[in-house]
Amino acid sequence: MKNANLSGNFVKADSVVAGAGIMGVFTALYLARKGQAVILLDKGPIFRAATGRTGGGVRQQYRHPAETPLSMASVKIWANLSEDLGMDIEYRRTGNLKLVRNEEEAVDAKERVQRENAQGLEVFWWEEKDVREYLPILNPDLPIQGGTFCPSDGTANALLLAGAMHKALQEAGVQLRTHEPAKKILVSDGNAIGIETDRNRYLADTVINTAGAWAQELIRTVGLDVPLFYRKSQIVVTEPVSPVFPCFISFEHGYCRQAASGNLHLGVRGYPVQNKNTDISYQAFTDVGQGYIQYFPFIGRILLIRGFAGITTWSPDHIPIIDRVPEFNNLFIAAGFSGHGFCLGPIVGKLLAEWTVDGKASMDLSAFSWSRFSNSKDITRETSYE
Ligand SMILES: Cc1cc2nc3c(=O)[nH]c(=O)nc-3n(C[C@H](O)[C@H](O)[C@H](O)COP(=O)(O)OP(=O)(O)OC[C@H]3O[C@@H](n4cnc5c(N)ncnc54)[C@H](O)[C@@H]3O)c2cc1C
Repeated sequence: MKNANLSGNFVKADSVVAGAGIMGVFTALYLARKGQAVILLDKGPIFRAATGRTGGGVRQQYRHPAETPLSMASVKIWANLSEDLGMDIEYRRTGNLKLVRNEEEAVDAKERVQRENAQGLEVFWWEEKDVREYLPILNPDLPIQGGTFCPSDGTANALLLAGAMHKALQEAGVQLRTHEPAKKILVSDGNAIGIETDRNRYLADTVINTAGAWAQELIRTVGLDVPLFYRKSQIVVTEPVSPVFPCFISFEHGYCRQAASGNLHLGVRGYPVQNKNTDISYQAFTDVGQGYIQYFPFIGRILLIRGFAGITTWSPDHIPIIDRVPEFNNLFIAAGFSGHGFCLGPIVGKLLAEWTVDGKASMDLSAFSWSRFSNSKDITRETSYE
């Protein structure tokens, strides 16, 4: 790898973070709160990519066992975020219900509840009658087994969070440079020393790649590669209706919630893509027709008014990579958060700030190592936790 040419103008900071999605903004914020001079770059405005298109679920249940403790720690941060950021981000702990349709799924769900309880997370198995009492809008003719309910799960509004984070970053002294893509990571003698854009070279002691679906592209500029794959996830929004969904609900065909405005946000299952096009597809609307109406027949009688799509980034075992990049000191990556990274943003930012400034994160991140993919035989994907 060629060393960077340091002649000419450059901007110096302690840390430079590439990508202002939820991972990047929280990393930058916690770094700045530790006294670091931080530059945060994004190729667009903040939250333009996956984070701004999220379903807003802040969920701990139904995760890979390695992610459960992270999500629980993150929810502790979410609990005080509105107060911490000085703005209501509509974080509400209304619970998360996962409907279970068949017997085989019920066996798995009950085992998962036991495992999650053992990890300290309060989750309940609900029999069919409990589910129907809680969710009377559910089709009475549709046979179900029951569901799992996590009362401390909830939702938040990503667009309100974008505004709140903008203000918090400014107050913390983070230099936010939007519409300025990182072109390459600069390296010298086995160290990452900064990031080059079309406008500047930013030199820093620590370089952090939180570029979401573009993290792979950016890491390739140092001659390494990381196995990441992409899926298009889509949400269809209905006209506002009177309260029908008391909490975030997921089931075999998707996931849904009711916004404070009364609109229903109906997420449909994602599918693999090669490109990063985020136009909503006609298929999203037909998926609502085919998947939702059998569960919630009233949806066939209300208007679908719009939809939006985003790209989610997946590793081969469906849990993220949060690690120092091998071969380069002081180069870190946090990417591959699949369809449920929104919840994890605050804790990932906090842990990365601890790791890069204090030398050690306060939680074990070894399950998210880069090196686990060096031997493909070691990759065991238990199930998709989309
Ligand atoms: C439709 C949909 C629904 C979802 N629902 C949920 C949900 O209910 N709950 C949940 O927990 N998660 C959900 N997710 C997943 C969640 O949104 C993601 O896991 C999370 O937002 C990923 O955050 P990130 O910061 O890694 O990536 P992103 O938000 O994609 O941020 C990456 C940023 O990097 C920037 N960037 C890219 N290249 C460069 C470059 N070269 N230089 C500088 N900046 C660059 C991009 O512009 C972008 O802003 C959903 C996602 C989608 C699409």
